[in-house]
Amino acid sequence: MTVIGLDDTDSRSRGMCTTYVADTVARRLTEAGATVERVLLVRCNPAVEHKTRGNAALAVHTDAAPSTAVDVAADVVDAAAETADDRTNPGVIVADGAPGDVPAAVATFARRAVTDIHARADARRLLETAGYRAETWGNGRGVVGALAAVGARAAFDEWTAEHIAYRRPERWGTDRDVDAGTVFDAADARYPTVWDTVDREAGEVVCVPHTPGPVLYGIRGDDAAACRAVAADIDAEPVARARCFRTNQGTDAHLRPGTVAGARDGRSYRLDGTVSTAPETRRGGHVFLAVADGDAELPCVAFEPTGRFRDRVRRLRVGDDLTVCGEVASGTLKLEKFALRDRRETESATPTCPDCGRTMESAGRGQGYRCRDCGTSADGRIERPLDRELTVGWYEVPPRARRHVARPLVRGGFDAPTHPER
Ligand code: ZN
Repeated sequence: MTVIGLDDTDSRSRGMCTTYVADTVARRLTEAGATVERVLLVRCNPAVEHKTRGNAALAVHTDAAPSTAVDVAADVVDAAAETADDRTNPGVIVADGAPGDVPAAVATFARRAVTDIHARADARRLLETAGYRAETWGNGRGVVGALAAVGARAAFDEWTAEHIAYRRPERWGTDRDVDAGTVFDAADARYPTVWDTVDREAGEVVCVPHTPGPVLYGIRGDDAAACRAVAADIDAEPVARARCFRTNQGTDAHLRPGTVAGARDGRSYRLDGTVSTAPETRRGGHVFLAVADGDAELPCVAFEPTGRFRDRVRRLRVGDDLTVCGEVASGTLKLEKFALRDRRETESATPTCPDCGRTMESAGRGQGYRCRDCGTSADGRIERPLDRELTVGWYEVPPRARRHVARPLVRGGFDAPTHPER
């Protein structure tokens, strides 16, 4: 077996897309008589700077000879990778051997590429040690993702599917013609095996991109056959070609266990804390709060595009115990989902008069409270029940705001009741 890793062939300005390049490589290999066993779509650390759109790397698993693989991949990347775009720096790596049998260091590299930040030099050292062939363009940044893609099969246990349909080249850059009604119907029929196809609450089709690239739509789910079935039921402009990728999307592979005190920029965490600052909606509609653990505090934010998720965040109260998930940037955790673990049920309040119902006044330092009109008194502040609209369990951003790698609650595997958005 031979593994071809590919990365950074996306071009913002000219609409190329790494999945399309990988599909082209796979097709060329098949035309040359080789078998392509599968193509992996690996979402790397979504926080990495210089990221390509969605930070995707691809791996083609094939029985083609390594020399053939190098020639075909380099040829396709040369022709299609838009190297004229100086923000595009493709890398191709070819590994000889079974995808699951890469050296442990390569698998570790792949895991870290999703949860951490890699230097290009580390990738180069490792691929030399492993004896892999590499081709790079531009500054060669693509070797990092390409090597991660090579190691991905051994690194990750959990895989989902995405069936991507591509447009005819002459239509690239024009408005996509997809019948939204058929998308909603097809999505309903296969939910929740197939997820994030649409955002029902917002009435929005999520699987059709708005970028100028070749993708017509991408159907994501737990099962490839179900994704294909949804695609088959969608009425749309002609599909030039399609491929079903195996992917780490929807798995939360980017999240690492963390602590409030230990959270660092450029990484994504799952960590516990207690709400220490009440939710506050700031300019632009972003909702901020802070969580604390001991002396350490971490600001968290639900950005405006997360829409109705912000209403859940606004219902949190100081003292609530949470688990929060998201990427840390500029010292702030960008909320993707959270679990309300333990609710604060009461709040401290000034007592009210049992006779007239008005708020009592302080009778002086250490003297308790009293009602001047009725002469009633109370020893101190009282605990008043809070009207809580939020029940314990997991809450998440809606499909329209989901990161590729983030796990939808509907997929299950969570340690508390879930409140899935659909
Ligand atoms: Zn009174």
